[in-house]
Amino acid sequence: MKNFDLIIIGAGAAGCIAAYFGAKKGFKVCLIDGKPRNKIGDKICGDGIGGQIFDFLKIPHPKKGEYLNVIDGAKLYPPDTRNSITIKDRSQAGYIIDRLAFGQRLVEDAVKVGAILYDQTHALSLIHSKGQISGVSIKSKTVDGDKLHANLVIDASGFHTQFRKQVDIPFLTKKIASTDYIVCYREILRLKNPIVVDQRYISIYMDNIRAPGGYIWNFPRNEYEVNLGFGITDKFKHHLLDYYKKYLYEPFIGNEPCTKITGGSGLVSVCKPLFTGVGNGILFAGDAAMQVNPITGGGLISSMQAGYYAVKAFEKANEVEIYDALGLWEYNLLCQKSIGAEFAALDLLRLAFQKWPNDFLNFTLENKLFTGDEISDITGTGEISLPFSSIIGKLIRGISKPRILLDLYYLRNQMQVIKSLYMRYPTIPAYLAQWVRQVETVYDNVRNRFK
Ligand SMILES: Cc1cc2nc3c(=O)[nH]c(=O)nc-3n(C[C@H](O)[C@H](O)[C@H](O)COP(=O)(O)OP(=O)(O)OC[C@H]3O[C@@H](n4cnc5c(N)ncnc54)[C@H](O)[C@@H]3O)c2cc1C
Repeated sequence: MKNFDLIIIGAGAAGCIAAYFGAKKGFKVCLIDGKPRNKIGDKICGDGIGGQIFDFLKIPHPKKGEYLNVIDGAKLYPPDTRNSITIKDRSQAGYIIDRLAFGQRLVEDAVKVGAILYDQTHALSLIHSKGQISGVSIKSKTVDGDKLHANLVIDASGFHTQFRKQVDIPFLTKKIASTDYIVCYREILRLKNPIVVDQRYISIYMDNIRAPGGYIWNFPRNEYEVNLGFGITDKFKHHLLDYYKKYLYEPFIGNEPCTKITGGSGLVSVCKPLFTGVGNGILFAGDAAMQVNPITGGGLISSMQAGYYAVKAFEKANEVEIYDALGLWEYNLLCQKSIGAEFAALDLLRLAFQKWPNDFLNFTLENKLFTGDEISDITGTGEISLPFSSIIGKLIRGISKPRILLDLYYLRNQMQVIKSLYMRYPTIPAYLAQWVRQVETVYDNVRNRFK
């Protein structure tokens, strides 16, 4: 029987960072992944990552080869694409990564500090004993035995996790609603002639007709290559490839000679994270905990942050050797006051934007109801902060569509309410029910307004 302090299911961004910090702290860590080692990190993705997470975790920034392009900021386009807003600040700057090379670096870093990697190893089910998760059953091509045991199992197995369904934790979402994720498709294309867009900027196109419920992205990888993709709500998924051809390939590439390097689809949650990410002997991190920015669909940074918080919480639980939900509660406090507060606020914005007609989006961006800095603040903090001087300007520019201003004002208030609720996340599991009711009331109000 193999015994560990931590078993981590999934060597993605969340799992590798948890394994790295866990092993660095001296814990006996087992990291398992169904993929062969040399394929870990290979994932369908937009490949954009902000640089700040590396400073936050105090780990090296990606080096050349792990990244393909350095990004200074984003250009945000309204549906009519006539003008764009440039968003440029430290929080927007980052990299377009080579997804496989970056993933390989994360897993190598974890192994170098002592994490034990079992690749080609599938976690099949959680082992329950005396009301606690005590390990996982596995099927492996690389390791003998079919069971692994640990004080804590971290589920970092991504969007398609099967493990939330295997536990009984109050207020844990077992199955994500079809309105709470988007279906994405992207291709990586190599053009014969240099691409015309400014390579230092990623481009984002908001459009509720061409990308209903999501957005279109065009991320330059280098002078000749782009990552071109989009996300749409589940109910449009049957149109995925048609839309791609009509609304992305034809307008962006047209008759330019070009080769497809790779293409594929994936799902990403665009809602608030799980109400709780811990149970007795188990913790959920990254996509498995729905920790993805609901506006941008970016989940790499938050997954890495959550992997780090998971180890911090485990350290605390380990001091008293209590690995139940209460012992691990620190994880909820760390996550909900940072990732949770920001993403729940942005989720409210998403619920409104998904219902906004294209002309509202055109009007808001064209009349500069928000500056690039303000949008950067909103997507980076989940807060619409409106100084008095800026409100006057917005009133003047937005006077012909008062409904938009009223919507924005309403949203700003609701986003503040939800953020403050998340900052007052319950200190113990017993208070969770009351808190969830308060959160759901805010959601009901916003849903009712933006029906
Ligand atoms: C099309 C698309 C574009 C995106 N673009 C961006 C972007 O540009 N920037 C950004 O920040 N985010 C982006 N995201 C989101 C981002 O990719 C995810 O949020 C992030 O990768 C989540 O990391 P994770 O570690 O939680 O899960 P994952 O990266 O999904 O890792 C899960 C790992 O678990 C393994 N696994 C799964 N089940 C088992 C099992 N039973 N046993 C063993 N191993 C298992 C898998 O093999 C995998 O290696 C995008 C997502 C999609 C779908």
